[in-house]
Amino acid sequence: MPRTTERFPMLRVFDHPLILHKLTRARDAATPPDEFRRLLNEIAGLMVFEVSRHFPVAPAEVETPLARAAGVRLARPVTLAPILRAGLGMTDGILRLFPEARVGHIGIQRDEGSHLPVAYYARLPEDVAAGPVLVIDPMLATGGSAVHAVTHLRERGCRDIQLVCLVAAPEGVARMQDVHPHVPIYAAALDERLDDRAYIVPGLGDAGDRLFGTF
Ligand code: URA
Repeated sequence: MPRTTERFPMLRVFDHPLILHKLTRARDAATPPDEFRRLLNEIAGLMVFEVSRHFPVAPAEVETPLARAAGVRLARPVTLAPILRAGLGMTDGILRLFPEARVGHIGIQRDEGSHLPVAYYARLPEDVAAGPVLVIDPMLATGGSAVHAVTHLRERGCRDIQLVCLVAAPEGVARMQDVHPHVPIYAAALDERLDDRAYIVPGLGDAGDRLFGTF
């Protein structure tokens, strides 16, 4: 079970040894993009096991080779909403567990001068509000992009929204909690702070560049 903190009641930080082992490899500046990509997807897959714990289910019966068996099925369509571009780096790992999930893309980039989010793209399923939505972004830094994405989803009627990230900064968690106090935030680590360029310290650098080799 991920840990919660008194300061950030909506933040759940994982303490599973496998997740922490993989996160440490991902943080290492010497880890090349192919391994970095694999690690992010693996961590995302491990995290989503817990993130999906409260997904609604409906009763379902099946015919086994021997008899009828009572079971359940996921009751509502799941939507993954990666924030471009780094969010793509965790999406395949989650899709492996939810192959039937829809993927809506949200394009937000930050202005390198002001560090403010600039939205440039959103393509979501028509009925995105019909089920749980996982907003995916490896780095919760200032919180600007996450807040913007969640605001957009709420304007589309979504009420069951969770944020899945890899590394969170206290500044980003605080901002999310201020603006969207009911949205659970899952992270593999809560780091120390942001630097003056709004990078997370110690963090892992620019997740998009490390995923796609754009150094
Ligand atoms: N985005 C990143 O990719 N890394 C950070 O440290 C902050 C924002």
